[in-house]
Amino acid sequence: MNRSIALFEEAQNYIPGGVNSPARAFKAVSDTPRFIERADGAYIYDVDGCQYIDYIGSWGPMILGNNNPVVLKAVQEAIVKGLSYGAATEAEVTMAKLVCELVPSMEMVRMVNSGTEATMSALRTARGYTGRSKIIKFEGCYHGHCDSLLVKAGSGLMNSGIPDSAGVPEGCAQDTLTATYNDFESVERLFEENKGQIAALILEPIAANMGVVLPDGDFLRKIREICDVNQTVLIADEVITGFRMGIDGAQGLLGIKPDLSTFGKIIGGGMPVGAYGGKREIMEMVAPCGPVYQAGTLSGNPVAMAAGIAQLTELKNHPEIYDHINGLGAMLCDGLKEIISEAKAGCVVNHIGSIGSLFFTGKPVTDYASAKTSDTAAYGNYFKHMLKGGVYLAPAQFEAMFISNAHSEENIKATLELAARFFGV
Ligand code: PMP
Repeated sequence: MNRSIALFEEAQNYIPGGVNSPARAFKAVSDTPRFIERADGAYIYDVDGCQYIDYIGSWGPMILGNNNPVVLKAVQEAIVKGLSYGAATEAEVTMAKLVCELVPSMEMVRMVNSGTEATMSALRTARGYTGRSKIIKFEGCYHGHCDSLLVKAGSGLMNSGIPDSAGVPEGCAQDTLTATYNDFESVERLFEENKGQIAALILEPIAANMGVVLPDGDFLRKIREICDVNQTVLIADEVITGFRMGIDGAQGLLGIKPDLSTFGKIIGGGMPVGAYGGKREIMEMVAPCGPVYQAGTLSGNPVAMAAGIAQLTELKNHPEIYDHINGLGAMLCDGLKEIISEAKAGCVVNHIGSIGSLFFTGKPVTDYASAKTSDTAAYGNYFKHMLKGGVYLAPAQFEAMFISNAHSEENIKATLELAARFFGV
């Protein structure tokens, strides 16, 4: 790993912490980030020539596998026509129609450049629509780095132990109310205390940024109900789950109909893309149609649209992809459960479809507080063992493993054998 070490040393002189996003730092596992040179299929390769089975997939978007030939061809055809025009294109219409066709709650959609932009814009739209200011989010859910959402957030904040970011003015965060995931009473209480003031409730329908945490029984149904009663806009943040839990996302799988939804990287097939949309009546508030301003020079970029259309079309035309990735997800997570049970290790596995997390705690993980009981140092040791053996997991406890269509049963078997060695079984 000499090249990675040298690059990291140099990087730290020029880039804060040596990385362009904290989620890819290896700080939480006390290691040096591996600098990646290329990726192909189920694998990524670092600058020192090491090959790893990739369980990150760019944090989700590489659902077809790295370097997918169909996506690649679409990008190659698009780039020679110009990288950006800042003008309307047919591809944007194709993409919007495709998203609305695949996700029934989507009547209109606006493309942006990241998940952060999508959630930030969806909130502004909900506030513009309702004329209210307050929002509810859940402790441990991460919705990007927009000021008002950096309150008790998951992902990088949770991994670094920072509950709320510095630099967020009090005024920005005072309208953000936080509830406990899977605790409906905590939501009821906030609605009760802030009657007629809550513009939106935003949540990950399946949480994946405090590690994977599943919604209990009828938690989402009750959330839908209370939002209806209070005329609050329900925003499902499907940046991780959209087009992954199934073609219609977690909302399709779990049977909830949000008012607005946010999507991200998966729509871009690896290119920088996000999107928000939903009910026509709400989306018609967005400029130039309505008074809520939101814009972006590179939004709907032709290369990104080409990649995204190719990826979504593949997913639409090949539903067997979901059988494959969900089957491997079950194989991996059931295998891990067997290993920890045999080893009598104080660990739990949360899993759904093609995502899952192994928590180093003996307690069931159902929310932020229970996730936080994990032994992050133990996770760090596990991570390092797996990396050394050629398996690239999230470099932090409170993240998910992602499986792509390029993974094989052999990959999963190799991963489980390596994990078994860590647990001494
Ligand atoms: N929402 C969720 C649920 C996410 O997981 C993320 C990032 N992983 C975001 C929003 C922010 O997306 P981005 O990093 O593209 O800004």
